[in-house]
Amino acid sequence: MIQLPNHITLTPRAFNYLNLWQNKINTEPTYETQIAKAKSSWGKSNQTFDEIKEKLRLMSNNTYRCHYCEDSYADEIEHIYPKDIFPEKTFIWENYLYACGPCNGPKNNKFALLTNGTVNDITPPQIKPDNYVYRRPPNDPIALIDPRVEDPFYYLELDIIETFRFVPHTDRNNPLDILKAEYTIEVLRLNAREYLIQARKHAFNNFKARLIAYFEQKRNGVSSAQLRQLIQGIQELNHQTVWHEMKRSHAYIPELNALFNHLPEAINW
Ligand SMILES: [Zn+2]
Repeated sequence: MIQLPNHITLTPRAFNYLNLWQNKINTEPTYETQIAKAKSSWGKSNQTFDEIKEKLRLMSNNTYRCHYCEDSYADEIEHIYPKDIFPEKTFIWENYLYACGPCNGPKNNKFALLTNGTVNDITPPQIKPDNYVYRRPPNDPIALIDPRVEDPFYYLELDIIETFRFVPHTDRNNPLDILKAEYTIEVLRLNAREYLIQARKHAFNNFKARLIAYFEQKRNGVSSAQLRQLIQGIQELNHQTVWHEMKRSHAYIPELNALFNHLPEAINW
């Protein structure tokens, strides 16, 4: 998971449309009726959502790819803050990303806050009993890393030497940062799916091979257009987290260090 670029935004027309629908929810009299309104008004496809999907695609280097696992095709809009808990964020642009079925299915409405130094699970029950009391969650920080506004690399490291699993960033001393990393890894099952681990290993070898190919092509004096194409190939590959971690930790891996020393420009790709 990498931070999504925040310079991509919507047209005023699309923002107006989202505001209109959000206001219909916000003016409902109770938290419960706001949730009901959020559910009933979501999912109607129209021109605005075509634009939103297009902008989300631009955020992932022109690919329809899950922003959580970076592995699968995804073109369904996911609410980072679930609309069943945060109806006031149903039609908020910054609350959207792409999520694939295998990420979104198990995550569903699972959500937690960091309340008084611990993970406070605020997932609503799947089937609400008749006497269920709707309570607005406290205004605490969320336990899930939000790649629309935060850099996941602040909280996470990917072990690209051996296991290809995520771990909390070893430099973080604040226990809340570690809880956030652990909760995100668990709820998105980032380490629990063997195929993701295998795919990250393949991606690592693929990125490395492409970097070597670039080095050789550059040495052979190919045109700058051809070199740009090779860079684009790297930027459009699945598992950009692997590439970001290769850039961040290259100094600890001799073969990568040699490559990046020959190609210092690759740090900016
Ligand atoms: Zn996914």
